[in-house]
Amino acid sequence: MDVTQETLYLLKEKGIRVTPQRQAILEYLKHVDTHPNAEEIYAHIRTKFAGISLGTIYNSLNMLCDKGLIQELAYGDTFSRFDGNPMPHDHIVCDVCRKVVDYHGPLLDNLLDLAQQESGFAIKGYRLELHGVCPACQN
Ligand SMILES: [Zn+2]
Ligand SMILES: [Zn+2]
Repeated sequence: MDVTQETLYLLKEKGIRVTPQRQAILEYLKHVDTHPNAEEIYAHIRTKFAGISLGTIYNSLNMLCDKGLIQELAYGDTFSRFDGNPMPHDHIVCDVCRKVVDYHGPLLDNLLDLAQQESGFAIKGYRLELHGVCPACQN
């Protein structure tokens, strides 16, 4: 399935009325791994849909988040960033250029079990943000 068909399928499956703008936003987020903020998404989508407003972008992003098609990264930055991958995964933030990259690692598997045992909580999730200096900024 190419991205266009996939996003169409996902929107329909979640009962979201498909508009070209919504589909373009979802497609853009599925394509990039840069975790753009709303302004960056707006700048991109506006090149295809000249009349679109930032408000429409925000509304669409909220809806896509509510339906679990994307996730909002609302921590550790001045702006919320958006991630086309709704599955839980960790992020590393560059302290210099503020770039956000995915980290898929086994980091917390054991810790979650341990936390559950020790606290008695049924642990549903966690938020973790790794900080550092990215390879490009180290040069
Ligand atoms: Zn950097
Ligand atoms: Zn991510």
